[in-house]
Amino acid sequence: MRFDSKIVLITGGAGGIGRATAHAFAREGALVVLAGRDEAALAAAVKEIGSDRADHVVADVADPASAAGMVEAVAGRHGGLHVAVNNAGIFSAAGPVADIDPAAWNAVLAVNLTGVFLSMKHEIAHMRAHGGGAIVNVSSNIGAHGRRPGLAAYAASKAAVSVLTRTAALDHVADGVRVNAVSPGATDTPMSLLPGESHAERAERMRTSAPSGRVSETGEVAETILWLASGASSHVVGHDLVVDGGVTA
Ligand code: NAP
Repeated sequence: MRFDSKIVLITGGAGGIGRATAHAFAREGALVVLAGRDEAALAAAVKEIGSDRADHVVADVADPASAAGMVEAVAGRHGGLHVAVNNAGIFSAAGPVADIDPAAWNAVLAVNLTGVFLSMKHEIAHMRAHGGGAIVNVSSNIGAHGRRPGLAAYAASKAAVSVLTRTAALDHVADGVRVNAVSPGATDTPMSLLPGESHAERAERMRTSAPSGRVSETGEVAETILWLASGASSHVVGHDLVVDGGVTA
């Protein structure tokens, strides 16, 4: 039980990668708190995991007061916060740069980048004052390669998350807070389906374009997150671990 009696906050915890990560932490003895905007989805995920092992908090990570309240609620209800997984994100094919609506650009950056900043700001402040902790931000391999036309806002937001992870790690390693990131490639959630694409079409696309020939399973991303949050990676600081079957190798 790698996370026995640890309190773990997972933003976007009712979604594909977040939910698999919540299950994995709960199996390892953690009490997981799932955050997101949709209360019904969060409650369903908590029920699936078991209300003795999971809780939820409604929060919008892009909103400064809501992000602060999220961390306050976790620590207040459960007496601490040891691990945070900043996984909430939105995908947007906003189009070629010349055609991107500035409002669409801002919406993506507000959740994917500012949401990670706001979440970390409050998580780290709590951890620093209470003996340290570990944070894993969920970025994307597109942040490293950018080779997907029409996805400039999403790609830029993820590149920024990877850099923010490194700087935050250096800012706070001496405070006992370890910050790392995971960068999945296409993973088996609806987010990796192109507009109108079926699961079979995605499988064929991956078979011909990815070195491993397939998407990542959510559990494969979850296990990487658990490793980065665990004592097994105690001297890994500011790293961005890619899980993409060799796409960016
Ligand atoms: P998902 O199923 O859509 O999950 C995203 C989660 O984020 C949802 O639970 C959503 O819940 C939450 N969320 C969105 N905006 C939020 C906000 N403002 N405040 C709080 N929560 C918010 O997608 P996923 O595929 O699991 O993606 C999880 C993360 O992995 C994302 O950061 C994504 O960019 C990254 N990623 C995914 C892939 C992939 O192929 N799937 C690849 C690389 C990286 P609510 O809408 O209820 O708030």
